[in-house]
Amino acid sequence: SSNSVDFQPDAGGAHVNGHIPHDEQNTRLQIIDDEKHFNSELSKQIQQWGLQGAGFDYNLVAVFGSQSTGKSTLLNRLFGTTFDVMAESKRQQTTKGIWMCRGKAMNLMVMDVEGTDGRERGEDQDFERKSALFSLASSEVLIVNMWEHQVGLYNGANMGLLKTVFEVNLGLFGKKESSGRTLLLFVIRDHIGVTPLANLQSTLTADLLRIWEGLSKPSELKDRQLSDYFDLEFTTLPHKILAPEQFETEVLSLRRRFSEKDNPGYLFKPDYHKRIPADGVAYYMEGIWEQVQSNKDLDLPTQQELLAQFRCDEISAGALAEFNEQAKSQKRPVEAGQVVEGLGGMMRNWRTQALTRYDRDASRYHKAVYTRKRADLTAALDSTLSPLFLGQLKNLHKFCLVQFKKALLNGLKGDEYDFGDVVLKARAKWEGMFEERAKEAFVEGTDWVWEDELELLKEEIGGVADQCRKDETKKMINQIERNIKKHISEPVELQLNSGAKDMWDEILKSFKNTLAKAESAYLTKAKSFNCTEEENISSLATLRKRAWQTLRAKIDEQTTDAVFLSKLRGHFEERFRYDDQGVPRVWKPDDDIDGAFKKAKEQTLDLVPLYSDIRPQDPALEFTLPSDSIDILSGEGEFDFDASLNVFSPNKQVELSNKFRKDADAYYVEAKRSTVAGIAQ
Ligand code: GDP
Ligand code: MG
Repeated sequence: SSNSVDFQPDAGGAHVNGHIPHDEQNTRLQIIDDEKHFNSELSKQIQQWGLQGAGFDYNLVAVFGSQSTGKSTLLNRLFGTTFDVMAESKRQQTTKGIWMCRGKAMNLMVMDVEGTDGRERGEDQDFERKSALFSLASSEVLIVNMWEHQVGLYNGANMGLLKTVFEVNLGLFGKKESSGRTLLLFVIRDHIGVTPLANLQSTLTADLLRIWEGLSKPSELKDRQLSDYFDLEFTTLPHKILAPEQFETEVLSLRRRFSEKDNPGYLFKPDYHKRIPADGVAYYMEGIWEQVQSNKDLDLPTQQELLAQFRCDEISAGALAEFNEQAKSQKRPVEAGQVVEGLGGMMRNWRTQALTRYDRDASRYHKAVYTRKRADLTAALDSTLSPLFLGQLKNLHKFCLVQFKKALLNGLKGDEYDFGDVVLKARAKWEGMFEERAKEAFVEGTDWVWEDELELLKEEIGGVADQCRKDETKKMINQIERNIKKHISEPVELQLNSGAKDMWDEILKSFKNTLAKAESAYLTKAKSFNCTEEENISSLATLRKRAWQTLRAKIDEQTTDAVFLSKLRGHFEERFRYDDQGVPRVWKPDDDIDGAFKKAKEQTLDLVPLYSDIRPQDPALEFTLPSDSIDILSGEGEFDFDASLNVFSPNKQVELSNKFRKDADAYYVEAKRSTVAGIAQ
């Protein structure tokens, strides 16, 4: 019907309506009941109205005025609210208190303040004062609703109410320079039209100024003007029952002044906004009401700070809870020793998300509180992330070390590798890998360090490489030792067979030759091993000792009793059974067998001392080893080098000589027999 204002649900503010069912958006709530208790459901209700996330993008309007002047009716017509309207038939006072409803299709909270005419009814002004304080602390626009015939009644209920409003406002906003401006919108009802609005307006304005002048202001505020705190607007509405169609039309155009930002008469100027984020309105109002109720001085900055603390804590807790849920997902794998792929990215993400979420909601609150709580939140986030980061580093360390070992093992397969190169490459790869992934795990804005862990890894990798190098060195020394053995075998056999005076010279010559080659072979290889000078020294010492022992073993092998005696026999035979030209002798009876035998035997026995000590004729060929040279392969330490120069002890020499004499005697007997046999033929 033309009597009703048709509100399109999506005419504005639809974005915060979201999916909230229509009837829930229309629910009204008694925020202060007749016992003057604050309703703790307000926060939930604001959420159900879909205004929780509106930030500053909402408005708050309250209505004041005498009982039964059609306030609730007006609000319902203007904003599509559902406040109780007194039934036409029984004119009785509706419940006292303050009601709130969401404006339909607007981001608007509407407060219907009931029973504000205590003065007229002779009741106490307590509630009037409290509700004025409460409304002024939160509302942008205060609608002062009155009948036309109440205009000019300076001593009427409205004027008493306004005096209260002014006083209360001075207390709230007096000290501050410009903040806390509020619009007083006078709606003059049942305007018949005989007196034009302009006249009504000047009458009211004059009355207001008179009230203002009459206020007992604190001395520091005595020069303040009414206009320093309030903007005044005046409007009339026709009689709802006598001129229903005009009433509806004008209500609709008044509505537009509330809903259309580009309307020239737009009423919600940004200046009026009390800057309480929508999600903090309930807590803020509750705090205000508590202060008001306990008759404490209402200090808005303190209230805003308390609100900020409470809300920033709440917002922070919300962000932290979500964050913890996310962080939990990677706790187990990290603790289980896994290197989590992309952990840093995840951590940065969670952290940024949490801070963004906090910033989005909390930055609207008191700056200092917001900043302080943000630092707390950041610390909490980082203390959760830090163990993940450190765990990741530890796991990464382990992983890279294992991979390095594997790479060494692979690289050192076969014979065709350069040890130093293999180590260098494996090192570069896995230390590089650690660094790369540690950097990935790092979260900017923290004071975390990964460099220390890298140092530890480098140390361990160095240790492994050292051990490996030692093993390689041993392998190399063993190989060189085998080579030495191969090379000296023949010369030693040859020389020891010769029994020549310079046989030790020749043996030592070829030994030294072979050793020199081995040493230079070692040094060539060791270069790529990155061996230290010290290591080279001990490796070379080992090599020399081993080489010497190899030589000694060969000499021992060639000088066992049996082998040596056979050598002596050989020498003896050569002297005794062959003549100077090397022709075999055929003994004749008048030959000097005895003389030849004696000579050959003595010459042969002279060889025993020659074999007994490794002593070259040329002193320059003497070989020596320090007696404390340690074998790094076997670990065996001191040995008696001088003793090792001795092949046969004096006793042994006697024993061997005696054995040889017996052998020689046999030859003599055989030679004698052969002459006897020759005669017999
Ligand atoms: P409130 O107590 O100020 O909230 O007043 P209500 O909205 O409950 O209305 C009180 C009575 O006044 C109801 O019977 C309404 O029908 C009636 N009423 C509402 N608006 C008007 C109006 O503009 N003019 C007149 N004369 N009566 C109205
Ligand atoms: Mg009412």
